[in-house]
Amino acid sequence: MPIYEYRCENGHLFEAYQHIIDPPLEKCKECEASAKRCISRVNLPRGAGVYFFDREHGNRDILHDPTLSDSERSSILSPVLNDLQKNRGG
Ligand SMILES: [Zn+2]
Repeated sequence: MPIYEYRCENGHLFEAYQHIIDPPLEKCKECEASAKRCISRVNLPRGAGVYFFDREHGNRDILHDPTLSDSERSSILSPVLNDLQKNRGG
């Protein structure tokens, strides 16, 4: 279950375990002032972008691996992207 972090009008910080579909808490646990959810510490994958992992080379992150040159990157990615486009079209 994710942990959400709240901050109330009086500056209290507190955390609450909530299910992702639960409505956010509205009151501070300490002083009952109105509180807002400010951070969720859900373990999301890094960033919100797309990642390709190269299984033949230790699952390295192809899009973000600084040791790859642009041409290496595109030669690894182009067949993958072609497949994706084929699947989308089908
Ligand atoms: Zn408070």
